[in-house]
Amino acid sequence: GLELRNIVKNFGAVEVIRDVSLAVNDGEFIAFVGPSGCGKSTLLRLIAGLDKPTGGSIAIDGADVTAIGAADRGLAMVFQSYALYPHMSVRENLAFGLENTKVAKAEIEARITDAARMLEIEPFLQRRPGQLSGGQRQRVAIGRAIVRRPDAFLLDEPLSNLDAELRVSMRAELAALHARLKATMIYVTHDQVEAMTLANRIVVLRGGRIEQVGTPLELYNKPANRFVAGFIGAPH
Ligand code: ATP
Ligand code: MG
Repeated sequence: GLELRNIVKNFGAVEVIRDVSLAVNDGEFIAFVGPSGCGKSTLLRLIAGLDKPTGGSIAIDGADVTAIGAADRGLAMVFQSYALYPHMSVRENLAFGLENTKVAKAEIEARITDAARMLEIEPFLQRRPGQLSGGQRQRVAIGRAIVRRPDAFLLDEPLSNLDAELRVSMRAELAALHARLKATMIYVTHDQVEAMTLANRIVVLRGGRIEQVGTPLELYNKPANRFVAGFIGAPH
């Protein structure tokens, strides 16, 4: 499991994450929701190890990883901005980081084929990211995380650039992927429907603090306050 203990993050004098504590069980699908600027991406970066908290600690399976770099945490992050390598083909983007590891070449190929089929990016494998639409790039970014078979996926609004139809089919694919890989998923979204349908538990953030954590049903039936109710779309 993943445990955040009293996490604080300051940028200069501004406290962006304020005393966040949260325990995530292995295999759980957790959604972070909250208004723009509430700290969702920052929290994901801290979990990924791409940034260090100003205060508090992070543990994975009981071991403190607060000082451990991103590469050694066994997590894969899908960024809001995709962060693909522009000079590499889609195939090379997917394979990057797997070559020169213990994963055999044939296994890498099999994983790429599998992910490309699922994400419907097979026709683009030879292209560069600059030759793809935003939605296609977003799917490549998801594919790059999938082929790594991480213990946990950190997904920052991974469907935000897709059209409505693709978004709905990708939502189902993500649910299937979660069921198949049994990996932990921490999923940032603005979309309540996504959070309500995909997540085991939803974390509602506001101004760098957790307002409420609960199952979709708990938040819907017993929102802690009007803010949560408004955000979840529950009657209030
Ligand atoms: P959105 O839904 O718009 O993506 P978010 O919840 O992901 O928003 P964050 O990106 O985590 O929000 O940002 C939280 C706050 O921290 C914002 O006020 C942002 O301006 C600030 N912030 C983020 N990164 C930095 C940085 N590197 N330096 C200074 N301030 C930052
Ligand atoms: Mg963000």
